[in-house]
Amino acid sequence: MAYQLNEKIRDLRPYDPITGTYPIRLDANESFLPIPNRIALKIMESAAFTAYNRYPDPLASELCKSFAEFYHVNAAHVTAGNGSDELISVICNAFLMKGDTILTVSPDFSMYRFYASIVEAKSIVYAKNPDLTIDVDKMIELARANDVKLILFSNPCNPTSLGLQKEEVRRLITSVKALVVLDEAYMDFWDQSLLDEVEQYDNLMILRTCSKAFGMAGIRLGFAVANPTLTNALKAVKSPYNVNSLTQKIGSLILSEQELIHSGIEEIVFSRSMLYSEMMRIEAKNRERMHVYPTAANFVFIQIAQAEEIFLALLKSGIAVRFMGDFLRVTAGTMEENKEFIKVFETIMQG
Ligand code: PMP
Repeated sequence: MAYQLNEKIRDLRPYDPITGTYPIRLDANESFLPIPNRIALKIMESAAFTAYNRYPDPLASELCKSFAEFYHVNAAHVTAGNGSDELISVICNAFLMKGDTILTVSPDFSMYRFYASIVEAKSIVYAKNPDLTIDVDKMIELARANDVKLILFSNPCNPTSLGLQKEEVRRLITSVKALVVLDEAYMDFWDQSLLDEVEQYDNLMILRTCSKAFGMAGIRLGFAVANPTLTNALKAVKSPYNVNSLTQKIGSLILSEQELIHSGIEEIVFSRSMLYSEMMRIEAKNRERMHVYPTAANFVFIQIAQAEEIFLALLKSGIAVRFMGDFLRVTAGTMEENKEFIKVFETIMQG
């Protein structure tokens, strides 16, 4: 008898958003800034003196301390993860029981519902307004009516690039019984974080990542910040050595480079503003065909007619962006990358 995969995994495919090699990658919301040589040398030195024969610190204490210092939060409230993606998976596994209900919003980061489905949770999806904004009252109503146990969404949102004001998020947190997991992966590019009030709530967990503003997508490092009860539970259920020794060292090293990070964020925001204003200029000439959303993140989100054709034409010119149905999502790149993208995009639009 042949082995049969169970139905929750039978039709899954490995995550591979874009296959192929493209000279300009504006598809994954990464930072375009490489690590300066000075830091690379420090990393090499640190790598050389790492005790590879030993397991890493399971609580990643030094790393959590560096994170806490950078954001002025209490280190005891911080849990490190192998990317925030791992933390999302662990949270869904631990804070949901089979059959519990999770509330997500649409459109949003697709992994939330995926991990919830692996736990066999019931998913309720709040469909955003036609302009892609969120009506918090509707979310509260849905959460209450369906005995929702977990609410998980990104702010600012990937992919819409829109943000929800903190007053609105506070209202949601205090109006529901569910655990609210607020994914602030892109909050380094905006100013509506709730990080400094996390301990005031018994039902709030905030996720942050080093993959966007910090330019460290390659080392896989994310954090969860929450009150001690939630933090203890998360630390107890995560796998013991989830953040490897090198990542712990490199993460601490970079997080202590405050000036470097802040100037990097400024550079990314500047690039994003350039990309956004250029896209607005093109929109002004093509109002019936495209709409650019205001952005609080390091990318722009565009509703556009014939999105797939445009996406494919860009790929042909060596430029990868993210194709999402009627939309394209374009990450801010270097000035040269942005200019090349704008040039090719405009030519495609004229053609
Ligand atoms: N949350 C959001 C909203 C994201 O866009 C991403 C990355 N695309 C992640 C989490 C995952 O980030 P990480 O690299 O830390 O796993």
